[in-house]
Amino acid sequence: MNKFTRLRNILAERKQTHQYRRPRIADSAQQPRMQIDGQPVLAFCSNDYLGLANHPAVIKAFQEAANEYGVGSGAAHLINGHSKPHQALEEALAEFTGRDRALLFSTGYMANLGVVSALMQRGDTVHQDRLNHASLLDAARLSGARLVRYKHNDMAHLRKRLSLTTHDTGQAMILADGIFSMDGDTAPVHELASIAAQTDSWLMIDDAHGFGVLGEHGAGLLEQEQLTQNDVPILMATLGKGLGTAGAFVAGSHELIEYLIQTARTFIYTTAQPPAIAAATLTSLKLVQNEPWRRERLQQFIRQFRRGAEQLGLPLMKSQTAIQPILVGDSGKALQMAQTLEQQGILVTAIRPPTVPPHTARLRITLSAAHTTAEVDQLLETLGSLQKPD
Ligand SMILES: *Cc1c(COP(=O)(O)O)cnc(C)c1O
Repeated sequence: MNKFTRLRNILAERKQTHQYRRPRIADSAQQPRMQIDGQPVLAFCSNDYLGLANHPAVIKAFQEAANEYGVGSGAAHLINGHSKPHQALEEALAEFTGRDRALLFSTGYMANLGVVSALMQRGDTVHQDRLNHASLLDAARLSGARLVRYKHNDMAHLRKRLSLTTHDTGQAMILADGIFSMDGDTAPVHELASIAAQTDSWLMIDDAHGFGVLGEHGAGLLEQEQLTQNDVPILMATLGKGLGTAGAFVAGSHELIEYLIQTARTFIYTTAQPPAIAAATLTSLKLVQNEPWRRERLQQFIRQFRRGAEQLGLPLMKSQTAIQPILVGDSGKALQMAQTLEQQGILVTAIRPPTVPPHTARLRITLSAAHTTAEVDQLLETLGSLQKPD
């Protein structure tokens, strides 16, 4: 059999099961009104929750740092790629999150792979929420530890799994998304913290969707829930979503960060992000701290959307965050709804298995502080018109 036959078969199967995807081409900056594949669209699918990806001050900081430091960092952090903006950003992130120290990674995916594979090994057990992000699942696999998945947000199930698997030699780690990326609901972080303390397990919260968006000052879910470094020893968050730039960081104790610098392979063996990205992120971080109106505006749109969707009788999910999925079930139907919306100038992604469990295809709607009240109304009206029989 020709080696390409398997590829052809898998691709054909993906098409048949409505799982085939292709990238669209954007010809404008990341913002609600974009030019995509040559068409103007109003987008409700971005993770740029605060409208910072195309903010003039962030762009300016990027340009100025590029003038001073050039574009490429040239090397890994431990060689000579760790610049002053990288250092300043790590210090600012540690202070902002109330942790001893923070360590930058090039992407969130790499941060997760790096931390879990550095701390866990064969003989250990990693407990994960069943709906965790793919990068956390891959991280556990890479570590060689045993991967155990507990039912979504089911703390009794987690306790049971822990009691069955904790043994004398191996260590345990609990991993959860702070806000679940495809559902928008929140992990029970207080309970997770007390279970981790009781069982002497590591606890890591991936706050990719909460950082910048939640908490009085925008430091994320753990700020909102007032959980310290003692409660949650490993905080990971990304910078490409609420902060509108790119990259990720891990924050925790001096000892944890020192250990990661020595052992996290996705930190050691990769080129540092361009210094200009770090400089832009520092400016973005200041906007997060100094402009709470962005978070308030986002909350206002979340309320507006949920109220409107309820009136239309749309099947909302249990989310109070910027991620507001509408459950459809069938992949083909979700895809068709997304296509109809796109014909009417609204871009929403149909999320299908294997990204979500079978028969739970959905329209993943995300809101941003950069939207307007009229735009959220336009989305609601268009969704309403989809429901009417033709
Ligand atoms: C987006 C995301 C990541 C990956 O972060 P990148 O910086 O995009 O690689 C990790 N975890 C969660 C929960 C995410 O939503």
